[in-house]
Amino acid sequence: MSYSTQIHISKSAIKNNINFLQRHFKNKVRISSVVKANAYGHGIEQFVPEVEKCGINHFSTFNFAEAKRVRKIVKDTTDIMILGWVAPDDLKEAIQDGYEFFVFEMGRLTNALKYAKELNIKAKLHLEVETGLNRTGFCHSEFLQAIEIIKANRDYFEVKGLCSHLAGPESIANHVRVKSQIKKLKTYKEEIISHGITPEYCHIACSAGAISYPEARFDLVRVGIMQYGFWSSKETFLRFMSSRTKKHDPLKRVICWKSQIMTIKEVKIGEFISYGTSYVAFEPKIIAIVPIGYSNGYSRSLSNNGRVLINGVPCSVVGLVNMNMIIVDVTHIFSAKVGDEVVIVGDQKNHTITVDSFSEISQQVNYEILSRIPREIPRVLVE
Ligand SMILES: *Cc1c(COP(=O)(O)O)cnc(C)c1O
Repeated sequence: MSYSTQIHISKSAIKNNINFLQRHFKNKVRISSVVKANAYGHGIEQFVPEVEKCGINHFSTFNFAEAKRVRKIVKDTTDIMILGWVAPDDLKEAIQDGYEFFVFEMGRLTNALKYAKELNIKAKLHLEVETGLNRTGFCHSEFLQAIEIIKANRDYFEVKGLCSHLAGPESIANHVRVKSQIKKLKTYKEEIISHGITPEYCHIACSAGAISYPEARFDLVRVGIMQYGFWSSKETFLRFMSSRTKKHDPLKRVICWKSQIMTIKEVKIGEFISYGTSYVAFEPKIIAIVPIGYSNGYSRSLSNNGRVLINGVPCSVVGLVNMNMIIVDVTHIFSAKVGDEVVIVGDQKNHTITVDSFSEISQQVNYEILSRIPREIPRVLVE
């Protein structure tokens, strides 16, 4: 094994998760599979074809480069939507090749018009409106301006969507804000329809929004994290489970990210472990060194905080995460030895390291860990 870590992607877990989402959202709601950040670290080239086999024909990426990677491996009839970045110089090519893209900026709208005229085809827009996240999205006055431009140039625009993005539906703390956002999108929808423009899809929900707020589903949901078998937050999971009679997690982890024990040693009581003084051994310790560090995508914020599985047992990361190594406490595993498999994310025996196993850390770190797994590590598809 030339790489210090290995990644397996489970085809049956993908099928399980997509089938669950399809059953849960029913036919009326179209699912857009969000595959930004290299399919949350799972690998676009490995993940997307398996999802398409399950009947999904809509994919979302953050930028044009990712969208082109998806285009290469899907059917011609499958739709691809760009949620974020298209360089002004790339917009013409994006329109020509039929990509759908978010428009939240007057400059992008007028550029799109210019290129659509040159090409004599319709640009496929998703008008993004500001509902309370305060990130991208037209404010109301710009929205009205955009409507006027679209009305005057109907031959050059196809309004595929009217959309927005929720500001944290994975936490009940944001309940009031989320409810108000959904309401605002409804108002925007009525308004655009009253101007004689009917967007094909209205959409605002990510995974947590779609699960916890059925009224946020409209006609399309943009599902990222759940397809990969992770819940957006522990809270979202508990909220969902409390409404079910069957008490097992319907999702399966798709990724298994592994490494192995490189060396083992004993540390005397009172000694510090790793750089500096952030961890002191209050008892004699046995530690295992694992060849993965922040340069391999294992965040420094997991210092003294992360957990891995060895022989099916959860073990704590002790001390600072180094550039290429972590130090793991294996004092409680008498049989740990050099070469043993270490699971960083995924299942081992009856235990799982899920996104929210790092429970003390915000779930944002978990999205971060997946999305930062280096692209050069080969992803191997397994059953
Ligand atoms: C990332 C993203 C999603 C998917 O979010 P999940 O929580 O992973 O489901 C949906 N919509 C937009 C605009 C996004 O950027």
